[in-house]
Amino acid sequence: MHNMDIRSLRTGIGYDVHQLTAGRDLIIGGVKIDFHLGLLGHSDADVLLHAVIDALLSAANLGDIGKLFPDNDASWKGISSMILLEKVSEKLRAASVEIINIDSVVICDKPKLLPHVPAMKTNICRVLGIQDNQIGIKGKTSEKLGFVGAMEGIESYATCLVLVK
Ligand code: MG
Repeated sequence: MHNMDIRSLRTGIGYDVHQLTAGRDLIIGGVKIDFHLGLLGHSDADVLLHAVIDALLSAANLGDIGKLFPDNDASWKGISSMILLEKVSEKLRAASVEIINIDSVVICDKPKLLPHVPAMKTNICRVLGIQDNQIGIKGKTSEKLGFVGAMEGIESYATCLVLVK
């Protein structure tokens, strides 16, 4: 690492939002959370994984989630976003991109996310082949403001730093 050219480091940012609705599972970070509302989307609508995927793809200059997994493609309908993350992980490996770290925020007033963070980290680390000190996941409330406060949706931001070898 000490001989690394600093110009081989790349940052990425990702953002995602999904509507909260009745009759759907709430899946965040690959964890199914017991709640009366879930996220609406073409896939399982895992807002955190989608933000992480976009941050990674962007840093690696490999496009974005909409380009790789278009929502008009029936093969991605209802798919677990853990599978999408796995495909992204393979793409990163093929492009010799090493993840240095990921940080993320999920903005959501209810339910409380903190109890689920360890399981989310375990899921993401397993698929990406990183250690749990290489990923941050924070739950944050909106203080009842805006669409998040109105329980109309959940949003997530992620950043990452990668090394392109
Ligand atoms: Mg999404």
